Amino acid sequence: MTPLPPVPPKHSLGQNFLIDPNIARKLVGALDPQPDETVLEIGPGVGALTAVLLERATRVIAVEIDGRLIPGLRERFGEQLDLLHADILAVDLTELATRAGGRLALLSCLPYYASSPILFHLLKHRAALSRAVLTLQREVADRCCAKPGTKDYGGVSVQLALAASPRRLFTISPHVFRPRPKVESAALLLDFTRPHPAQPRSWDALEQVLRAAFGQRRKTLRNALSAKFDFEKTDEMLAAAGVNPKTRAEDVPPEGFVALAESV
Ligand code: SAM
Repeated sequence: MTPLPPVPPKHSLGQNFLIDPNIARKLVGALDPQPDETVLEIGPGVGALTAVLLERATRVIAVEIDGRLIPGLRERFGEQLDLLHADILAVDLTELATRAGGRLALLSCLPYYASSPILFHLLKHRAALSRAVLTLQREVADRCCAKPGTKDYGGVSVQLALAASPRRLFTISPHVFRPRPKVESAALLLDFTRPHPAQPRSWDALEQVLRAAFGQRRKTLRNALSAKFDFEKTDEMLAAAGVNPKTRAEDVPPEGFVALAESV
């Protein structure tokens, strides 16, 4: 049985605690920790996932922002768990992986208020990660895995397709959390060891293109990009990338954005 939090859960920190050990086992099973790897858990809360993870993983580092939960975690897991009291967005994952001696496997029921910034933090440190199993709001998981030509396809779908072959694993009912969130969740698998064959030379350039292209997604790509790059530059970029100027951002495959980013 997972202990109840010693203090009232904070909605502002996305605190919906997992109460179903079967889901915890399913998530840890999907990550499949290997004996030689270190697993990082973001937001252990009161330790529902952590406890199951520690049965399977050799080394676990957990990063929790809420100082009220730290003493309970220390008492429950002691030296078994390498616990950091910090905001994950302020943690240098590349340095953490170097200290751990290799790429980190990552497990988290993400706090929903911060799932986008955390996903971008993971993307920034993608070379420090092997794979990740994350629970997200279902709609966000759908956007992460969306394919070109669909309404969910956007900047995050492109970046994750390039970095980590995202795959939605299973949906998760609100009933397995306390307090119950208002929305359904889904588990997502990211495999950073299987990037797309097309890779941008500059991720900054790619982000600029994606922001401009999807910032006005109903416009033609030429019109959307020209708001950022002016028409002359836009025409040059489209011609060099071999992308039809009349197409819309949602119809351009990830490798098309890589080609566009080359001439930024
Ligand atoms: N893993 C636990 C479970 O499954 O029951 C808790 C999951 S709860 C959805 C999210 C957890 O992330 C909370 O413990 C919350 O305090 C923590 N958290 C929120 N923002 C964070 C941040 N920026 N850095 C680290 N932890 C954070």
